[in-house]
Order: sequence, then C-alpha cells, then structure tokens
Amino acid sequence: MNKSLLTFPKGGIHPPEGKDLTEHLAVETLPIPEDVEILLNQHFGAPCTPLVKKKDQVAEGDVIGVVEKGLGAAIHSSVTGTVKTIGASAHPIAVKAPAVVIQTDTEAPPREWPESDWQALSKDELLDRVKNAGIVGIGGAGFPTHVKLSPPPAAKVDTLILNGAECEPYLTADHRLMLEQPEKVVEGAKIILRILGIKECQIAIEANKPDAIETMKTACAEASNDFNVTVSPLKVKYPQGSEKQLIQSITGRKVPGFGLPFDVGVIVQNVGTAKAIYDAVVLQKPLYEKIMTISGRGIARPANLLVKIGTRISDIVSYLGGTLPGLAKIVLGGPMMGFAVSTLDIPVTKTTSGILFLTEKEIDLRPYGQCIRCGWCLEACPMGLLPNEIGVHVEAGRAGDTSQFGVFECFECGCCAYTCPAKRPLVQFIRLAKMKAKK
Ligand code: SF4
Ligand code: SF4
Repeated sequence: MNKSLLTFPKGGIHPPEGKDLTEHLAVETLPIPEDVEILLNQHFGAPCTPLVKKKDQVAEGDVIGVVEKGLGAAIHSSVTGTVKTIGASAHPIAVKAPAVVIQTDTEAPPREWPESDWQALSKDELLDRVKNAGIVGIGGAGFPTHVKLSPPPAAKVDTLILNGAECEPYLTADHRLMLEQPEKVVEGAKIILRILGIKECQIAIEANKPDAIETMKTACAEASNDFNVTVSPLKVKYPQGSEKQLIQSITGRKVPGFGLPFDVGVIVQNVGTAKAIYDAVVLQKPLYEKIMTISGRGIARPANLLVKIGTRISDIVSYLGGTLPGLAKIVLGGPMMGFAVSTLDIPVTKTTSGILFLTEKEIDLRPYGQCIRCGWCLEACPMGLLPNEIGVHVEAGRAGDTSQFGVFECFECGCCAYTCPAKRPLVQFIRLAKMKAKK
C-alpha cells in the first residue's frame, strides 16, 4: 500500500470488498416497470404533499409532490402515465409511508432534456434549478442539497470535497459513474463551486479504483478550468467515505463532535449528487432515476443498473433472473450501514445506493456472547467512542445513561460490531440507546 495515500488517523477497518462481482460491469438501463410506487418522503424533513390525484395524467419529470413547510425536496414522476392510487406504501425504514402509484404508459417516448449553457446564470438561479430538481444527498440521509449548498456566510467555506470513496463493500455505482460519465461529474463540481463562490475542489477516491482515479484525473485536466478541480486518492479503509473522516483525510481539519462540515470550511457532496446537479442545471432534468448496484451471491445476475425511482425491488429481481438458494438477507445500501428488509415490495428511493442479496456464507449468523473487555471495538471506532460500555449499559437497562460514552456522536458505521470477537450487536444497542438517552 502506498504510504502517501490520504486517510483519517483513528480507527477504521478493512472488510472484504466484494466489489469484484460488479465493478467491471457497465451500467445498464432497467426497462421501465408496469407501474412505479413513488414515496413522498425520500428526504430528510417533512413528507411532500401530493399535487396529483387519482386518474391524473403525468409526464416523466413532472412534479407530483412538494414540501409545504420546513425542510424537504420536491418529488417528480419517474415515468409518463396515469396516477393509479395515492396511499400508503412499504418504506425502507419506516413501516409505511405516503406514496403515489403511477401506471406506466409503455407507448410514451422517453422525455428529451436538451442541454443549455449555465455559465451566465446567477448563483440564485443555479440554486433554484437544484431546488426545483428535488436533489438530495443521494449517497446518504437525503439532506436537501439546495440547503446544504447555502451555508451561513460566517462559515467561510473554502473547499468542496466530492465524495467518490465508495468505501462500503459490494457497492460500485459511484465507481461506474466516474468511469462512464466523468465529464458530467466534473461539470457538476464546477457548478457547485460557482454556487459556493469558491475555486477549490478535491475529488476523493479510494485507491482500489485506479481506473476511476485516472479517468477522473483526465476529465479534470480536460475541463476548461477557471476552477481548481483535482483528484485525491485515498487509502482503502472503511469508513473513508463518511463526511468527518473524509474531511480529516483530505484537509487535516477535524469537524467538532456535534459540528457540521461547514464549521471547518468544507462542503462535501457525493459524486452522484454532482452528476444530479449537472442534470438539474444543464438539462433542467429532475432527480427521478439513479444508478444502483445490485449484488451479492444470492441474486442470479449482479449488475449496476440505472433505475427509475419508485421501481419495486421485485421488478429488479425479476429482471436479473431471480434470487438463488442460500439467500439469507436482503440489505438496502451497503452491508455496513444499510438496512435489512423483509419484503421485495419496497420501492427504490433517491437515497437507495444498492440492494444486496447476501447468502449464509456472506453474513455471520453466529449468536453473540458477553463482552470480554478485549477493547477491539475501541480501537476500531473512528470517533473514539466507547461502544462496549454502551452495549453493557443497554443490556443492563441503563440505556438512558449512555450519552457519557458518546452515543450521540456515533454515526453507526458498524466498525465496532464488525471487529467484536463476541459478535455483539453493538449498532443495534446504539440505536436503542439513542432512543432512550438524553443529549
Ligand atoms: S458504530 Fe458508532 S461506536 Fe461503533 S465504531 Fe462506528 S462510530 Fe464508533
Ligand atoms: S470488541 Fe466486543 S468483546 Fe471486545 S470490548 Fe468491544 S464489545 Fe466487548
């Protein structure tokens, strides 16, 4: 390993990567399903209010939901068709959520989104296009991007980091995006820099993607450059792509415990979000489809797919030839920070980065034991927390006393649980503790 590669100083792990299943597979477009189920809360904030009613005709890209009050992002139709129902659907995290079901018009031609020049647009006009396109952080919790790109003036932001680390095992959607559409990612970065009024952008990519590093370096060099957009290779170490660790790896700046990236002069955006910003500004195309990785040894044909938002997992499984014997767990997202789901009825949202079909051989099904005080979880924790103590306190019915061990600084990366020889479900303990402890 090249010692000069950038990384964060404390903790981290190196789980088996599992990316060989899909990293060399070009993105293919999933055929449009017969109907889509578009959730109205795909973002951090309040759910959208539907703007359509049963039997309404909608075109691909039409707005179908808006947030009336507070934080949020508009929702658009991913297909042309007729509104079938407005009701409750299965949700990846919540049990049920409001949704619009649209019957697809299979004869409708795909909508065209012609290019336009963005250079003459003002900062406010650029931000409006990002907002109107309903863009959220598509690599994370779905925070509305137009809000993230409007830090308070006192923040003195001087650096944009584009996150192409993709440190979660199995996931290769960002990798393929950087290989296949590098110029759009760089153009998206330039638009963000213009909005922020700064010049400096570093595109952070783990060193296990040397082809993406070279492709993005070429794209940066070829982009007509009023800006300084460069590539920063990172050491392969999980969770290299988490915001605080990434900022420390790239800039050496440490975001305070309960602080935000702009507190240290940085804004972080995922490479997929940068591409969505390119679409929003240059094409005026809303965010209604996304590249995802479908992987694991429990699916007949792993793939990187361009999927319409609202497509059900069951439609993806059918297209890829079904599941295989030995399937033990379906995970939305990566194996470290994703969520296990028990139904194929769940629709894809703006934040679904992948779906993993994991077999018994790919997951650890051994029962967990008592804490043996080995301290491995302390060494693995990138935040310097005490997950062992949190677990012991939760088991003892004292979850309310766990803020002293840093429970609210935990971002649930799973390093502690991964490394624990007793296989203790430390992240589940932490989630429970967060519900009961006081900040
Ligand atoms: S899940 Fe939380 S406690 Fe465990 S290693 Fe990650 S940040 Fe630390
Ligand atoms: S790694 Fe597991 S067994 Fe070791 S101290 Fe942490 S919780 Fe206890």
